[in-house]
Amino acid sequence: MSGNKYKILIVEDEENILKFVKTVLSAHGYHVLCAKSGMDGWMLFESHCPDLVILDLGLPDMDGIQFLKRVRKKSSVPVLVLSARSNEKDKVEALDLGANDYVTKPFGTAELEARIRTALRNSNRWLERGSILQGKFHMGALEIDYDARRLFVDGQEVKLTQTEYNIVSLLSKQAGKVMTYAEIIQVIWGWNDSGSTKKLQVNMANIRKKFGERPGAARYIHNELGVGYRMNAEEEV
Ligand code: CA
Repeated sequence: MSGNKYKILIVEDEENILKFVKTVLSAHGYHVLCAKSGMDGWMLFESHCPDLVILDLGLPDMDGIQFLKRVRKKSSVPVLVLSARSNEKDKVEALDLGANDYVTKPFGTAELEARIRTALRNSNRWLERGSILQGKFHMGALEIDYDARRLFVDGQEVKLTQTEYNIVSLLSKQAGKVMTYAEIIQVIWGWNDSGSTKKLQVNMANIRKKFGERPGAARYIHNELGVGYRMNAEEEV
């Protein structure tokens, strides 16, 4: 399902590299967003909340390092830096400022793909707060398969977006406890702004709909009004 695709933003002004990366990643099932300047990249970043950013350090309108700083002020999304320079100093500076990894141009398909997979895997680990989620979670008719990142209700798979899945798995990890809106927002998006609570509510409404829950008849996730959300505790077996 397209809803399960990771969203990757590429900010790169060189047309041929942009096209190459887009073609390769689309073929691997990623949803790719392209920007040729820092400003365009920033607009896409803010409006789409990508799961990973591929960032060229030499942009026409701003230094890639500046772009990275801006991202890190708001978010802990994985950033992979593209550098034409073999200059170690640039790479170290980018890593010091929070880039997750770098790829030196020219680079091959396999290398790029491997770096992306690692960065995404590490960010999912981070999401789980240091403890790797393994095995399965059961609660009533709900089952979460953490290894496969899949979710079932009454034995039927429920197709969630990455964000929706991340929210549900986070709540299941803390099942039985209330998680505040701010806590959830911090873990899922890495930053909190005026629109975040609304965004969380919209995601939660979609999750409930997909779970087949009616408003006021929550079987799995309870809205603690004005505080946050709580998932029912796992059944004791
Ligand atoms: Ca460039």
